[in-house]
Amino acid sequence: MKHEPPTLCAECLRCGQRSILGRALPQLAGGAMPEGGRLRCDLCGGRRVRLVPARGPAEIIAFVARRR
Ligand SMILES: [Zn+2]
Repeated sequence: MKHEPPTLCAECLRCGQRSILGRALPQLAGGAMPEGGRLRCDLCGGRRVRLVPARGPAEIIAFVARRR
C-alpha cells in the first residue's frame, strides 16, 4: 500500500471553529507544527490555531462534526 499523508484539519483555540485544510500544505504534513502566525482562523481571525492530522474521511467528518 502506498503511504498516504494525513489530511490536515485546524481547530481555532479562540472560538472553536473547525476547518479542513486538506493536503495543500506539504511542509506542515511532516510533523512540523507552526507556532501560530501562519495560520489564521477564517471565522474570528485568531492566530491560535491547532493543527490536527486526520487519517481518512471518517476522522475528518468526526472532527468537523464535534462542535460545541
Ligand atoms: Zn476562531
